[in-house]
Amino acid sequence: MKKLFKFLKILLGLLLSLALLVVLYVNLHPTFGGSPNADSMAKIKQSPYFDGEHFQNLVKTEASTIRVEGDKADKWRLLQNFISPPKGKNPELVHTQKLKAKAIKNGEFIWLGHSTVLFKTDETTIITDPVFNNASPVPFTIEPFAMSNTPTIEDLPFIDIVLISHDHYDHLDYKAIQQLNAKVGHFYVPLGVKAHLLHWGVAATKVSEYDWYEETTANNIRLVFLPSRHFSGRGIWNHRQTLWGSWAVIAPQLKVYFSGDGGYSPEFAHIGQRVGGFDMAFIEDGAYNKRWKDVHMFPEQSAQAGIDVRAKVILPIHWGKFDLSTHQWTEPVRRIKAALNQHNKTVSDGEKIRLATPRIGETFGLTQFPQGEWWTEKTSQP
Ligand SMILES: [Zn+2]
Repeated sequence: MKKLFKFLKILLGLLLSLALLVVLYVNLHPTFGGSPNADSMAKIKQSPYFDGEHFQNLVKTEASTIRVEGDKADKWRLLQNFISPPKGKNPELVHTQKLKAKAIKNGEFIWLGHSTVLFKTDETTIITDPVFNNASPVPFTIEPFAMSNTPTIEDLPFIDIVLISHDHYDHLDYKAIQQLNAKVGHFYVPLGVKAHLLHWGVAATKVSEYDWYEETTANNIRLVFLPSRHFSGRGIWNHRQTLWGSWAVIAPQLKVYFSGDGGYSPEFAHIGQRVGGFDMAFIEDGAYNKRWKDVHMFPEQSAQAGIDVRAKVILPIHWGKFDLSTHQWTEPVRRIKAALNQHNKTVSDGEKIRLATPRIGETFGLTQFPQGEWWTEKTSQP
């Protein structure tokens, strides 16, 4: 009895120490970000989308459904899929191209994997959600796939505009923000996200935060922050304390839509109507699952979102770099391609929507852009 009591005491001591370590890690490690200052808090409280405790979506949204009707095995498959992914789910090596970002010209784009896209228009260089490290606060988890040429921050030119869609780890990478800071003109972020950047050492004068439908002009380019159907949070207790959304970049020479993350919603059609269409749309396509169908789109919905926003060309993003769901890594691009082919059969030539499928790191423009299926190739490319 005495022995058992001693054992339980040691066990309790160990568990308490572990809990303390977790609490200390969450509170002290910079990756978890900062809390809004008085100015930000005042703006958050005034937002029509903040209910006093959390930001809310425009339509009823559940971040995650625990029970899925008629599929009890799914919960276990989900866990198994992450711990030991089945063969073929993830690539051994993604065949990417050597980044030539410093030579980027007006009208050119470079997809860097997941939701990171570098592009240039009207002498202005813009990047979306720059992520270069693992997409998780827990070291050695959710690491990027191995690539034949890994894009690095050193390879990037000076960036005038950084657009952030929300504060999830696969979109807001604190190490990347710190490394990029010296070569960035200004950061444009959703309401509440400024606190994270300040916490990581970015000067307050270099960050502006926006509520939905707010906009600004930089270098003669309109930047409009728009809704998406998603959620936010980096810690255990700060869910939906910062805003999430999508961006419209309306430059004299180019109109681009960046969807950020989010489930399908009627808002895409409103955005298309509001802006009058886009030359290019970076649309979320990947990491979907019926368990979180409200906050991530299936590829057919991604195609529909591109149609709704009236995009001429879609660049599917949110795939090719991280394993965040149960599907095979190339399924998002294969399914969106099939869905768009189907759509294009039903419309006139002028209404057809084209799909850009560049390799990660490949520079391309809108007059002639990559449409090949590089992901089916077995051999490594230089
Ligand atoms: Zn997200």
